[in-house]
Amino acid sequence: MISTQGARARFSAVKEQAGRTPRKFDPPRDESGRRLKVSEFFGMNTFDQRLMREKLPKDVFAKLLTTIETGGRLDPGIAGTVAHAFKEWAISRGVTHFTHWFQPQTGATAEKHEAFLAFDEQRSPVEKFSGQQLIQGEPDASSFPSGGMRTTFEARGYTAWDPSSPVFIMETASCKTLCIPSVFLSHHGHALDEKTGFLRSVEVLSEKLCALLELSGTRGARRVVPMLGVEQEYFLIDRAFHMLRPDLIMTGRSLLGGQPPKGQQLEDHYFGSIAARVQSFMSEMEHELFKLGVPAKARHNEVAPSQYECAPIYGEANISIDHNQVMMEVIRKTAIRHNFAALMHEKPFAGVNGSGKHCNWSLAITASGQDLDGENLLDPGTTPGENLRFLLVLAGVLKGVHKHAGLLRAGVASAGNDHRLGANEAPPAILSVFLGDMLSKILDEIEKGAASGQNPEAAVIKLGVSRLPEVMRDNTDRNRTSPFAFTGNKFEFRAVGSSASPAFPVMLLNAAVADGVEEVAALVKKHLAAGKSVPEAAIETVRAVSTGTRPVRFEGNNYSEEWVQEAGRRGLPNLRKTPEALAQMTVPSSVEMLTRLGIFSELEVHSRYHVRLERYIKNMMIEVDTMKSMLDTMVLPAACSYHATLAWGAASAKTAGMNSPAVHVADRVSALAAALQVARTKLDAAARKAEAAGDEAAKARLYSLDVATAMTEARTASDELESVVADDLWPLPKYREMLFLI
Ligand code: ADP
Ligand code: MG
Repeated sequence: MISTQGARARFSAVKEQAGRTPRKFDPPRDESGRRLKVSEFFGMNTFDQRLMREKLPKDVFAKLLTTIETGGRLDPGIAGTVAHAFKEWAISRGVTHFTHWFQPQTGATAEKHEAFLAFDEQRSPVEKFSGQQLIQGEPDASSFPSGGMRTTFEARGYTAWDPSSPVFIMETASCKTLCIPSVFLSHHGHALDEKTGFLRSVEVLSEKLCALLELSGTRGARRVVPMLGVEQEYFLIDRAFHMLRPDLIMTGRSLLGGQPPKGQQLEDHYFGSIAARVQSFMSEMEHELFKLGVPAKARHNEVAPSQYECAPIYGEANISIDHNQVMMEVIRKTAIRHNFAALMHEKPFAGVNGSGKHCNWSLAITASGQDLDGENLLDPGTTPGENLRFLLVLAGVLKGVHKHAGLLRAGVASAGNDHRLGANEAPPAILSVFLGDMLSKILDEIEKGAASGQNPEAAVIKLGVSRLPEVMRDNTDRNRTSPFAFTGNKFEFRAVGSSASPAFPVMLLNAAVADGVEEVAALVKKHLAAGKSVPEAAIETVRAVSTGTRPVRFEGNNYSEEWVQEAGRRGLPNLRKTPEALAQMTVPSSVEMLTRLGIFSELEVHSRYHVRLERYIKNMMIEVDTMKSMLDTMVLPAACSYHATLAWGAASAKTAGMNSPAVHVADRVSALAAALQVARTKLDAAARKAEAAGDEAAKARLYSLDVATAMTEARTASDELESVVADDLWPLPKYREMLFLI
């Protein structure tokens, strides 16, 4: 039987995509039909502070603001008033439902909508929304991952409003829902989500930094918050192709597919002119984000064909994290309207660049009662005094990252990121810090002890520390190969994967740095107690930390093989695959730190490890099953069809006494199909063995090694067949079509 159905569907997808035109959309307008400026409608779908000030009684607003700005407890007495204001505003905007919007440990967000509809005493329909409904929700928690913290008979879970992130209206077609950013806890108060731990990490980091500032002479800082700018990379491919690829639908990445002759080697995509159809998608997507108060700032083509980036203006990390979740959702939904599928996977296409989510991170004083507000502790500053402050905070970062490099690696571990980390366009699985020439030189000088025996203040100046502002202006030596790079006045955590919620990796970064800062403060205290002046104590501390954290600092090419060797000699962990990386979460140093700082209980740490390990195993299982079914129902049938055609041609040529090339091609197809069959069997066996493994850790390990290898082998065999089988018999859209037709 010879079937060309599959290829026909592929060709009609090509035709469909060729007929596409850029979609027009309706930007917000005023009554006269004038198109509004962005500044006129920015945030119209959020109940932001401006609106709070306008709609809430003065005393209620003041109490709410205190909670938002200092992270204190919300006065339950004001909840009813706030809920009423939210409801009136939402209803006036055509909203019918509300939902507690939270981030369970699935990497995505969760929502359960409830109508405002209720009945009053006269049984007349009314809209109702109480303070209690605002503050707390009670979704059934049993179907969310808990890592063994909760059994199904203890199904109760609570969502609790997080007032520090503004409520917003999510619009889809004609449906509008009021979303209330929330945390998610179990019946016993264990954190079941990504945000609770994150918020705790913000608190403890602030506390440790304020203590260090106080010691080192910056007085009055009451709150320091991490600031975050999250760059989001993604791919867009035409939906017609997407729908013909079971692997993209099921797993988010192509499990099969031969390399086209042209990939990204011509370097013509990065910052290239943006295709009209894509621009119109980006513009609509950004309009949606603007309405939601997400300050989308930069858009550009990324390195790989069909790869793009959207970067917002940075803000308080808690809000930036919610904004990133919103951004991913808006990208996905808007893409569909433009007949695209947005792929957020870390490596949707083998052989071209993968996608990251660079987390730009700094530390800002937000409450001081003086003019310190807004100061960035990672800004090298202009005076020696401030430079000392900067150097001490830098020492805290170095200390934390060095001590917890393994844990930070665990924070970015996922099945998807395994394909990206260590590939030659992404940071390696080894966590190191890049500081740049200027800072490295300054630390070197301090280490050499140039400051000893001199007036420390003067010595600092002599060391060149007073020239630090030049770092901002002149330091263009960006190191794109580093997983954690200093970029002028912030660190760029580049190892985070594009599909990840930034909450978990940034929470671990906050925690690690809080721990580092605590140690730095203890050292300063020791020197002060020994009678040293503040500058002396600071320089001594920076010297000791700089020397001690040398192994984690690396300025060279992180992609090189020499670095892998060198890192090994330095004793830095090189955790290539997710299971070994995740294991770092439960080593004593990680558990001790996270529990001591009050970020998680021991149970919560272990549950997170289990949730992530389980997710890894499930992702791998889904990939294996998808691959097997594609090989069995698409690739092998195409190969057999082609072989049958050739066999028929070869036989008739033989009858006619002709020497036909069909004979050679038929032999080749037959050999390749046989090789694929062998690889397919091996994959099956490897997956069975993994399934039978005694415990989850062993299972995950087998998936990451034997199963992953078997998948690569099966893919190679299939991709070779793709290069031989007649194009009009091949059912799967090819790389050249998916990546180059826009
Ligand atoms: P690049 O791709 O060159 O690194 P982008 O403009 O794409 O730069 O992204 C840089 C990101 O860093 C933006 O989101 C920006 O708002 C953010 N950023 C800039 N300064 C800071 C800072 N002090 N703290 C945190 N994030 C910052
Ligand atoms: Mg960028």
